[in-house]
Amino acid sequence: MQSIDFDTRAVFIAGHWQSASFGRTLPLINPSDGSELTQIARGGPAEIDAAVVAAQAALDGPWGAMSAAERGRILARMGARVTEMADVLARMEALDVGKPVKQGLADAHALARYLEFYGGAADKVMGETIPFTPGYTALTLREPHGVTGHIVPWNYPMQIIGRSVGAALAMGNACVLKPAEEACLTALAFARIAHDCGLPAGALNVVPGLGEEAGAALSRHHGVRHLSFTGSVAVGQHVQAAAARNTVPVTLELGGKSPQLVFADADLDAALPFLVNAGVQNAGQTCSAASRILVQADIFDDVVARMAERYKKLVVGPAIHDPDVGPLISARQRELVQGYLAAARDSGLRVAAQAELHDDLPKNGCYVAPTLLAPVRNDHRLAQEEIFGPVQVVIPFDDEADAIAQANGTAFGLVAGVWTRDGSRALRVARRLQCGQVFVNNYGAGGGVELPFGGVKSSGHGREKGFEALYGFSTLKTIAIKHD
Ligand code: NAD
Repeated sequence: MQSIDFDTRAVFIAGHWQSASFGRTLPLINPSDGSELTQIARGGPAEIDAAVVAAQAALDGPWGAMSAAERGRILARMGARVTEMADVLARMEALDVGKPVKQGLADAHALARYLEFYGGAADKVMGETIPFTPGYTALTLREPHGVTGHIVPWNYPMQIIGRSVGAALAMGNACVLKPAEEACLTALAFARIAHDCGLPAGALNVVPGLGEEAGAALSRHHGVRHLSFTGSVAVGQHVQAAAARNTVPVTLELGGKSPQLVFADADLDAALPFLVNAGVQNAGQTCSAASRILVQADIFDDVVARMAERYKKLVVGPAIHDPDVGPLISARQRELVQGYLAAARDSGLRVAAQAELHDDLPKNGCYVAPTLLAPVRNDHRLAQEEIFGPVQVVIPFDDEADAIAQANGTAFGLVAGVWTRDGSRALRVARRLQCGQVFVNNYGAGGGVELPFGGVKSSGHGREKGFEALYGFSTLKTIAIKHD
């Protein structure tokens, strides 16, 4: 099998692999069995500063002078290379994130597709001419922000790098990427691929390290002109506050408590795989996980019974064996989720189904049995807080108005699904849901590289993915020319 040659203990700055100051490193743990995979660099303020300087030098040098078409060609080459190396990247993610190999493969192909999409779009973002006062010609230009900071979490590293760094590079920004300390191997592999495909030195810099060190240093760096943050609400607010001190725009892609609404006339055979998979995929550690299933009272028992059948068949195991559900990212995350399950027990919630954890699972792996709870009231803590584990609650509703009120009745607003055969109702409900994306008679639409994505309320603001991201990763300049 081919491999991607990079130094796991290094940061990648100005096209070079180098150690973090004083050779500081952190352990990287395989969540499937608790073993140490390797050590990674513990970058901090000094490395972030060097990365920002390198990014600015790239903008002042060959990267800044490059045509949009040439930027697009480099991104397209990167996408082709990611496709060639998809198996290697998927196995890397299985070891690092605990993501089942097939899901890692889907992430690698999504990364390739982002690079292909944004590579193709790089020279197609245009300004306008504006009908203005006679004697003037007025026009607009889309320009890069400059140095952009990208802080990403551990749950979908490849997809999030694709949608944020891919779009930023397409628009001619120079990026400083801070991957999560729990999982950063594919970010480093991506740097190697970018370099090999001809991305000029400094256009992409990767600095692994702790959030409160490297992440905080990037958020407050005065040389950064735009920040893209994907992660928890609390840290997102922190990043936004730091950016505000430099008057820097921020895209916040935060958490969710996304509902799927199942009306009595829904095609249940079509809905069921989506109802369950969207809750347990990536062990429930998905921002858009459908963690609340709202079901019309007439069909409630039937839907719960049919979901329960599926739960009982889920295979949980080490990611490299490609089970349905792998481990959680860390022992800490496992304890958090177990705390929610204890709270469910204490408040008397009924466990409608639980997948089995077999005795032969590695004893230091971070496994939690996927659990279906039903019925649950929408105001229960487990229906309100993001659990970030393989736990779904099923909530009954009476009619359309009740369904909409309950769906909108959390602090979050990221994604929603509507299952009904009534087209008018589908549109009516979709328009009243407070969230950034609504799927009708599907959920997730296969990742949807082309579909703008982001939240409202505590789920964040700004949009990534699709063409829309290119507007976020650029700034508009108006030129008014007086000619006589
Ligand atoms: P997190 O907020 O703890 O960490 C995310 C990133 O922020 C990591 O790189 C981390 O090192 C960094 N960070 C931590 N503290 C920081 C600080 N003080 N300053 C700057 N950076 C800091 O989130 P997590 O636990 O890794 O990820 C899970 C969360 O991410 C969930 O809430 C999930 O819903 C959300 N998420 C959202 C999306 C989306 O697109 N909306 C996608 C994936 C995950």
